Amino acid sequence: MSSDFASLGLSEPIWRAAAERGYTTPTPIQAQAIPAVLSGVDLLAGAQTGTGKTAAFAMPILHQLAATAATAFHGPSSVRALILVPTRELAAQVEESVQLYGKNLSLRSLILIGGVKINPQMQKLRRSVDVLVATPGRLLDHIQQRSVDLSHVEILVLDEADRMLDMGFIRDIRRILAILPKKRQNLLFSATFSPEIRTLADGLLHNPVSVEVASRNATADTVAQRFYAVDQERKRELLTHLIREDQWHQVLVFTRTKHGADRLAKHLSQDGMQAMAIHGNKSQGARTRALAEFKEGKVRVLVATDIAARGIDISELPHVVNFELPHVPEDYVHRIGRTGRAGNNGQAVSLVSVDERKQLADVEKLLKRSFAKEIVAGFEPRQHFPSHQPAAQARRPSTPGAQRRAPNRPAAGGNRFRERPKTSA
Ligand code: AMP
Repeated sequence: MSSDFASLGLSEPIWRAAAERGYTTPTPIQAQAIPAVLSGVDLLAGAQTGTGKTAAFAMPILHQLAATAATAFHGPSSVRALILVPTRELAAQVEESVQLYGKNLSLRSLILIGGVKINPQMQKLRRSVDVLVATPGRLLDHIQQRSVDLSHVEILVLDEADRMLDMGFIRDIRRILAILPKKRQNLLFSATFSPEIRTLADGLLHNPVSVEVASRNATADTVAQRFYAVDQERKRELLTHLIREDQWHQVLVFTRTKHGADRLAKHLSQDGMQAMAIHGNKSQGARTRALAEFKEGKVRVLVATDIAARGIDISELPHVVNFELPHVPEDYVHRIGRTGRAGNNGQAVSLVSVDERKQLADVEKLLKRSFAKEIVAGFEPRQHFPSHQPAAQARRPSTPGAQRRAPNRPAAGGNRFRERPKTSA
């Protein structure tokens, strides 16, 4: 067995575990971050999910911990590496990766998340932990209960730091940072770099090495992005149509609200599709179950709010749909980052109604490009976006018998908002 991971400096048990999973070539973020983390410096990494960022910190952390394991016992409840993540789902995935790459080592990992009973966690914390993966709120509960000892933390990771700030975790994070030992290695991963992230990084990291894959706020180029102009009240019908016509078997749909997610999942179920919703009001058990059934293919459509879906990793997820565009344009990048991962091709479809033109403009501004808007025959919107390509340049729908209303010509032309009919394959 051979692996390019060995040449990055990782020990055999770690690269062998990756190779057994089929990973022998590091992704760009791994190639840059792994040697840096192994050298012991602080790291500022710009990488979104789908780039292989989890292994980029998990593998070298395991390497470091294994190298000094014999001399590093600090007593019960003590933690050597702390990985903070914004959501429960992401915590589960990160811990799975730690288990995966650490399977040939005898290191102990543990996950601490909210939404489940605290007592079993306290029980598990009686033994020392090499890698602790936690969401900030539940970790603070344990700190208050004195069930965890963070005074020997050697490595700290803030994963998806931008999401943690978006979710209002900054004060929790600062409270956790305050009780960590001063001397430690810090790794900060973020998909986007707002001034708030910069401030956090400046205070946290000492002479960090910066690595970045894909330019900031860029979307993976393996994701085909399509925008369908449609009236708000016909979106559900169009979604059903697209899922059926194009035979999508596994599709993650984003809505803006929990209520909207529930309603849409219910309607899709009524339309005869196996659909489930996940959002913050659902119990952890229900969320985990829905995700598992979706991964197994028992649930065809998973409807999620941004917070619930953050960090969801489903390999080769082929379709992501924005039922509504997000209010925060960065969320668009996060949402469509669920598809086209690690080199797989994916498709991100956004259903946009004219009242979402501001959100669309924000996304276009962030990504520094404009998108053609397509019209699906039979779903022509009553209202058009402010400016679009003249009708003469629009392609005719290929669906037999489909009627396409002549679009209203705008007073001023321009192709910023081009519209073209979707040609059904
Ligand atoms: P992440 O960005 O950490 O969410 O990882 C995205 C996906 O890429 C996950 O499904 C990983 O298991 C997968 N992955 C991570 N490293 C590699 C690699 N070197 N080669 C191929 N796939 C990988």
